[in-house]
Amino acid sequence: MSETVVSGIRPTGKLHLGNYFGAVQNFLKFQEAHPCYFFIADYHSLTTHPTPEDLGGSVYRVFAEYLALGLDPEKCTLYLQSDVPEVAELYLFLNMNAYLGELERVSSFKEKVRSQPNNINAGLLTYPVLMAADILIHHGTRVPVGKDQEQHLEMARTFGNRFNRMYNTEYFKEPFAIGSDEGLVKVPGLTGGGKMSKSAGEADNIYLDDEPEVLRKKIMRAVSDSGPAEPGSAKSQPVQNLFDLMALVCKPDVIAHFDETHKNGTIRYGDLKKQLAEDMETFVAPLRSRIQDMLNNKELVTKAAKRGAEKARESAAKTITEVRSMMGFRGF
Ligand code: AMP
Repeated sequence: MSETVVSGIRPTGKLHLGNYFGAVQNFLKFQEAHPCYFFIADYHSLTTHPTPEDLGGSVYRVFAEYLALGLDPEKCTLYLQSDVPEVAELYLFLNMNAYLGELERVSSFKEKVRSQPNNINAGLLTYPVLMAADILIHHGTRVPVGKDQEQHLEMARTFGNRFNRMYNTEYFKEPFAIGSDEGLVKVPGLTGGGKMSKSAGEADNIYLDDEPEVLRKKIMRAVSDSGPAEPGSAKSQPVQNLFDLMALVCKPDVIAHFDETHKNGTIRYGDLKKQLAEDMETFVAPLRSRIQDMLNNKELVTKAAKRGAEKARESAAKTITEVRSMMGFRGF
């Protein structure tokens, strides 16, 4: 059976190395093998109340970056969620059969209630319903999500199945995770903690369009140990992070050399970082240049967004027409 992949992209500004290895590279693989719908989740982002300028700027940027990194508007459907109003209509329909109790039990919602008590809006509560609409509108069967999104995906199955039961049909298929966590690359940040993440701040992130000098300085300031560990001792977390970053961009013999010096207690972290900075620059330079070119090519980006919207609406309009008819909106 052919699988349809659907995935949302948060418009959160510049892409970092974690996004590249953890998301973009998977998308590039999927677009070769499956029908794919990738969308910038701009409706979803309204739960945080961005200004119109911030919203517009971030959406343009992330769309242009994904294009620059190789998403091909002819191979996949890359679009803005808000260009497809059928998604909002399906969201409305699904909301009528989504219950307060089940929505309140969603872990990500409970977490928001704790962390931002002053902005618990209905959009946050019904986030899983909108996500279900995003997927079901294209009959998506595979969704590249991590473990934290598994619960949302389960709800998408619940809402689809509930619709099927109500209208005595097998219309919606069940979507499942693809490549969820295991086997996926986890890119560490530069500040010695866990995953590279925007919330950890500028110093933690390597952005794909960082200028060479910025990139070099960030890496030279990365957290490591103050001196070599005892020969044979295990790597500390910050040092392991640096080795994990090297694994992404350095040659095997370079990594083997620093591994050896770590083992025998002669490692110099300044040398390691210098090498990592050089290899990272070699890796990032072509990506940076493609991103900059694309950001400046508004005509091309606009054309791609228009093409994506057309393709996405074609699929979505078919679904919504069928759904309306099944529900009894049939005109006179
Ligand atoms: P975000 O920018 O946080 O919305 O992340 C978008 C996607 O990028 C996530 O769903 C992950 O697939 C991927 N991603 C983000 N940070 C990392 C990371 N440090 N390592 C690997 N993948 C990541």
